[in-house]
Amino acid sequence: MSVTEKEIKTETKHDLIMQAKNIKKYFPIKGGIIRQTVGHVKAVDDVSLDIRRGETLGVVGESGSGKSTLGRVLLRLLDPTEGQIIFNNDDITTLGNRKMRPYRRDMQMIFQDPFASLNPKMSVGELIEEPLLVQTNKSKSERKEIASSLLEKVGLRPDARHKYPHEFSGGQRQRISIARALTLNPKFIIGDEPVSALDVSIQAQVLNLMADLQDEFDLTYLFIAHDLSVVKHISDRVAVMYLGRIAEISPKKDLYETPLHPYTQALLSSVPTIDVRKRREKIILKGDLPSPSNPPSGCTFRTRCPHAHERCAVDRPELIDVGNDHLVACHLYDK
Ligand code: SF4
Repeated sequence: MSVTEKEIKTETKHDLIMQAKNIKKYFPIKGGIIRQTVGHVKAVDDVSLDIRRGETLGVVGESGSGKSTLGRVLLRLLDPTEGQIIFNNDDITTLGNRKMRPYRRDMQMIFQDPFASLNPKMSVGELIEEPLLVQTNKSKSERKEIASSLLEKVGLRPDARHKYPHEFSGGQRQRISIARALTLNPKFIIGDEPVSALDVSIQAQVLNLMADLQDEFDLTYLFIAHDLSVVKHISDRVAVMYLGRIAEISPKKDLYETPLHPYTQALLSSVPTIDVRKRREKIILKGDLPSPSNPPSGCTFRTRCPHAHERCAVDRPELIDVGNDHLVACHLYDK
């Protein structure tokens, strides 16, 4: 089968809500007296990703891996340096603000810090009704009704409409952010570490709420986290990012039971488990994450990889399909 035939077959196998094709996002580094560009931070470096309608795709990586930048590029909050973004079969890569407007209704983002993302001067009712005011012709009473109903759906009392964000706990504020994200009945939501700032006991409640809302509102999620344990329960598939690239992507069960990439193996070895049969010997990675402005040649993980060999310094590994929808970018599997 030719590569093109294979690509077409893969693309039509699933109903895709979004496709990212060879996305790069480079930020210029300015220097010198006249502030010219002296280099680039390669935050996202050639990422291709299919997001299937109705799924939750977890994206995991340490700080500096490019996962949040990727999320912002996919929603067109940042313009990609290169690559193509297809949403609902439409190419939205270069659409201007006016043409993006109808798509913005369908895609929303929930941020890590609800303190920063909720305007403290607006009441909860105003916060939830604001997107309706800007994007629709709904009357005042219709907006109120929608806000009250959404507050109930996220587990808050409808009279929360009259209060302000500071009157709520962190978990409740994140529930308000979720209600606000749902106002325009979106199809695709990116959660950028939406539970990272919450206590562990509250994290589970918010994750359960998001899972329930996914069924009720027919949502597709891209769920960004820095920790594999957070995305374990909510994800259908998980992508692991390292230094702006995808190291491995696989259905959840396969990834947690048979991680293939040495980086995923190291991340998983540090996830605590109470099941003694599943405990792994902890793999301590040497060194720090290299700078995305000066990534290592070949495989960017080679400076920390316990299996690095000669070829790894020369050839950049591409994602290869090892079967069962499991892809890995590592020369150990590229025979
Ligand atoms: Fe390690 Fe080489 Fe595989 Fe990179 S390609 S993860 S350096 S073995």
